Amino acid sequence: MQDHAIHLQKPATVVHRIVWVYAVPITLIHLLALAAVLPWLFSWTGLITMLLGVHFIGHLGINIGYHRLLTHRSFRVPRWLEYTFVLLALFCLQDTPARWVANHRHHHNHSDTEPDPHTPLVSFFWSHVGWMLFHNSGIHNLSSYQKLVPDLIQDPFYLRLAKNPALIFWIYLAQIPLFLLPAMAIGYMTAPPDAKPWLAAIQFGLSLVVWGVIVRTVVVWHVTWSVNSLSHMFGYRNYHNDEHSMNNWLVAVMTAGEGWHNNHHHDPASACNQHRWWEFDITFWEIKILEKLGLATRVLPPRRQRQVSKQRPPQPSAPVG
Ligand SMILES: [Zn+2]
Ligand SMILES: [Zn+2]
Repeated sequence: MQDHAIHLQKPATVVHRIVWVYAVPITLIHLLALAAVLPWLFSWTGLITMLLGVHFIGHLGINIGYHRLLTHRSFRVPRWLEYTFVLLALFCLQDTPARWVANHRHHHNHSDTEPDPHTPLVSFFWSHVGWMLFHNSGIHNLSSYQKLVPDLIQDPFYLRLAKNPALIFWIYLAQIPLFLLPAMAIGYMTAPPDAKPWLAAIQFGLSLVVWGVIVRTVVVWHVTWSVNSLSHMFGYRNYHNDEHSMNNWLVAVMTAGEGWHNNHHHDPASACNQHRWWEFDITFWEIKILEKLGLATRVLPPRRQRQVSKQRPPQPSAPVG
C-alpha cells in the first residue's frame, strides 16, 4: 500500500482563480440531477437509458475516444470514427479534447509529484473534482497545448474547441432533443385512455432527459473522476512504478477496465490494461472488435508482446507457387 502520510501542495502553476465556466455547470448539473428523486420523473426506460448511456456514451467516448485513442494513440481509426467517439465524449461534458488530453498526458509525465494536476496526495477532494475548478497556468493555454498536444491542435476541429471551450456546452445541449423528442412522441402515443396525452408526453420526455442525460452525465463524471482519485489511493500494485497508481477492481468495473490503473501506468501506450487473466478489460475487447471489423488498426499490445515481436527474427516469406 502507498504511504498516505505523504502530502503534496497543489501544483505551483495553479492560480487561485475559479474557472466559473467549469464550476457553474458542474454545480448546476449536480443540482438538476436531484430531480431524479421525484417519482413523477422516474421511468424504467429512463433508468435503463441511463445505464446504457454510461457505457455506450460514457465509456466509448471517454475510455476509447479521449483516453486510449487521443491521449495514448494506442490504436488508429478512420477520422469519421474518431470524431464519433469525440462527439460521444463531448456529450459527457468533460472538457475539450485538447484540454482533457493535455491534463492526462501531464498527469502521466508527473504522476504523484507536485506538477501532477490531480494527485490525491494533495487531498481526495482535490484529485476527484477540486483540481478542475481552478485555473492551471501550466497546462490550460495554447502554448502549453503546443507542447503537450501538438498532434491535437493540428486538427482544425480540436483547435477550434480549444480556443472556444464554451462551444462544448452547445454540443452537450444538442443531445437533449435527441432524447426529448422521441420520448415525447412515445409518451403521447402510449398515454393511457384516462390520461391527458400531452401531459404523458411531457412526463416521459422529461424522464428520459433527466435520467438519460442529466443523471448519466453525473454518473459518468464520478466514474471518470474515480480513476484520478480512488485508483491512486486504494487497491493493489502489480508494478512498483515510481508513483501511487493502483489496480482497483471497483473502479475497473465502473469504468469497463480503466481501474486497472497500475497496469496502465506501467504501460500507458498499450491498448490493453489486462495483465492477468481476471483483470478483465472490456474497453480493450471492444477495441479488438473494432479491429476485427477492420475499423481499428495498429492496436498496440502490452509491452512484453511488443518486445517479443521485436526480438523475433524476420520470418522467411512463403514460397511462391
Ligand atoms: Zn493515474
Ligand atoms: Zn492514461
